[in-house]
Amino acid sequence: SAKTGGRDCYQFFSPRLQEDINRKTDMAVKLRHAVEKNQFYLYYQPQIDLANGKLIGVEALIRWADPEKGIISPKDFIPLAEETGLIIPISEWVLKEACRQYVKWLSKGYNPVSISVNISARQFQQRDLVAKINSIIATTGMDRNYLTLEITEGTALMDLDHAIDVIKKLRDTGIKVALDDFGTGYSSLNYLKLLPVNIIKMDQTFMRDIISDNTDREMAKTIICLSHKLNLYVTAEGIETEDQLVFLKDNHCDYGQGYLFSRPLPPEEIDDIICRGIFSMLQLKKMEYVNI
Ligand code: C2E
Ligand code: MG
Ligand code: MG
Ligand code: MG
Repeated sequence: SAKTGGRDCYQFFSPRLQEDINRKTDMAVKLRHAVEKNQFYLYYQPQIDLANGKLIGVEALIRWADPEKGIISPKDFIPLAEETGLIIPISEWVLKEACRQYVKWLSKGYNPVSISVNISARQFQQRDLVAKINSIIATTGMDRNYLTLEITEGTALMDLDHAIDVIKKLRDTGIKVALDDFGTGYSSLNYLKLLPVNIIKMDQTFMRDIISDNTDREMAKTIICLSHKLNLYVTAEGIETEDQLVFLKDNHCDYGQGYLFSRPLPPEEIDDIICRGIFSMLQLKKMEYVNI
């Protein structure tokens, strides 16, 4: 009977799996609520020109402030947001908020630095993405020459033709595009010469053992060389120690980002860094001592 069949089927569901499903449904409801109540905010992490210690930009990184759980990291809700489609309103808010913040910094008379915004896979596949970005730029008064959009390798390779088309359109209007988490996904490098990106962001996994592991060191060197051969800038993510910084400088890596310089900070705290616009080695040392 149907009932027996149902019972048989039920055996495939462990209580553990059921728990996972419940937790996910709970979380999806909460996330929808968070979108309605706007429980998100942006942190900003400095990006530094490694040759001279100058601040060249900040990356906007989303945080979710849940009234019960506290601050939730994007790693714990972006995948669900992608799955539920909530990533679309969330992403629109992120871009709008980042542009609004940039315009505010400019109005205070700070030197312009670029602002990087992460674009999710599903957001990037939207056919009206470029129009949406243009509209946000127009309404916020953002200077598009200071906007960088970050997409991951994985996102770009989901539909390479679409990616090439979108990146070309963005670049034609002055927006820059960075390839995020580079080196983690795919072994074929052929696509790299087809993608008209400006910047390669070497994934932070390369930083971890760069001092102790010869293979990682050679790979990092290769990524830096490859980027330069293709006339691209290269950013190292996840710089945590001075040894890593010295290695990157010795190997002419252009830009860097990591806890050594600063963790991602709320707008009030990053204000001072943007105002000064420079990370001298002296300041760096001081910051290490005061602990960031
Ligand atoms: P990502 O774009 O690669 O961002 C870099 C991540 O590395 C950030 O984590 C940053 O806090 C962290 N990080 C920076 N320096 C260091 C370091 O020295 N050591 C270590 N261990 N980590 C460092 P976060 O903020 O948790 O974001 C994680 C990921 O979530 C991002 O990776 C990005 O893929 C995604 N994400 C963040 N904000 C957004 C957003 O607004 N929209 C979308 N679609 N995705 C976002
Ligand atoms: Mg990023
Ligand atoms: Mg990254
Ligand atoms: Mg990452």
